[in-house]
Amino acid sequence: MRQNLHRKRTQNKPMFTNPFTTLDQLPRVELAHLPTPIESLLNLSAYLGGPEIFIKRDDQTGLATGGNKARKLEFLIAQALSHEADCVITAGSTQSNHARQTAAAAARYGLACHLVLYAPNGEPPTDLRGNLLLDRILGATIHWTDERAPYSVTIAQVEAELRDAGHYPFIIPYGGSNPFGVMGYAVAMREFAAQARGLPKFDTHVFGSSSGGTQAGMVLGAYLTRLTEPTITTDILGISIDSPAAELAPRVTRLAMAAASELDLEADDLEQSLAALVEINDDYLGGGYAVVGDAERAAIRLLAQHEGILIDPVYTGRAFAGLIDLIRRGVFTRGQRVLFWHTGGSAALFAFADALSLEDES
Ligand SMILES: *Cc1c(COP(=O)(O)O)cnc(C)c1O
Repeated sequence: MRQNLHRKRTQNKPMFTNPFTTLDQLPRVELAHLPTPIESLLNLSAYLGGPEIFIKRDDQTGLATGGNKARKLEFLIAQALSHEADCVITAGSTQSNHARQTAAAAARYGLACHLVLYAPNGEPPTDLRGNLLLDRILGATIHWTDERAPYSVTIAQVEAELRDAGHYPFIIPYGGSNPFGVMGYAVAMREFAAQARGLPKFDTHVFGSSSGGTQAGMVLGAYLTRLTEPTITTDILGISIDSPAAELAPRVTRLAMAAASELDLEADDLEQSLAALVEINDDYLGGGYAVVGDAERAAIRLLAQHEGILIDPVYTGRAFAGLIDLIRRGVFTRGQRVLFWHTGGSAALFAFADALSLEDES
């Protein structure tokens, strides 16, 4: 295995050093409170009668109500700064957590923030709620787009306008998922490995996967970690939020490969090795992106009422509903240890009051 790993620029040097060395030399700013804690969900595990469930609190990364984008933005904002940008542009849905955390990160580093947000049917919401309220408080400029213009078209328009006005915009892609965003979760996997050392083995990481950068980072980080610690063999299971696995899996592998190439990682079987770590379940797409169904509603209340932990209506609610179903169907069983990654998003709860209404509860 190890002999296959070498970096282009150091081919003559001794074969092996720390696999994270190149990654640690990339520009990175400080945004997230790390390491995030791993907690045991004792009450909920007992209630469900299945595996021991643990939770990695990436909702507590600390950037304007937290979430997984803080880890990505440490590398993405550093890229913007090293390109001498004076503003960033990114895109997302109306209730995008990524947009909100980008607005916060930009504010912290003195960059203006332009958000291209999707308004269904060309109708932006008339009231400011959830993440959208926070975007405004954080000082972002919002540019609405709709079905007629894909994000990329509107981003290009905003970019051209900013350049014409004498600005230096830096584009952060949807979800922060490019090779640099991916690094945030490669580092997170090293963080997990350090926390897991000396503990009984975790069987599976479970989390919501959408634009794929989080999963790509976990896969790359696991690959790098296992080069020196082959006993860490926790499976990495992404619960797809909005794409069929046949679309999401190649996207994740592509992103992991692109990040690996940014690190000059080379191995004959690199793509195969990374692809082999990509596991996706797409059984929980429900009514589509951001459509809250019974399963999400139940999962949100279960975690809130057994553990006092808030998950979100779009991502973690769906992913946790998937985990609960997999437990009920005996895919995860007593004696196993599952680590659920809480990737954040609870600020969106306040924009989904109707969908989360308690009327059906006695
Ligand atoms: C963005 C997001 C995800 C998905 O992460 P990707 O890297 O886009 O796959 C999961 N959970 C929350 C709360 C998010 O905001």
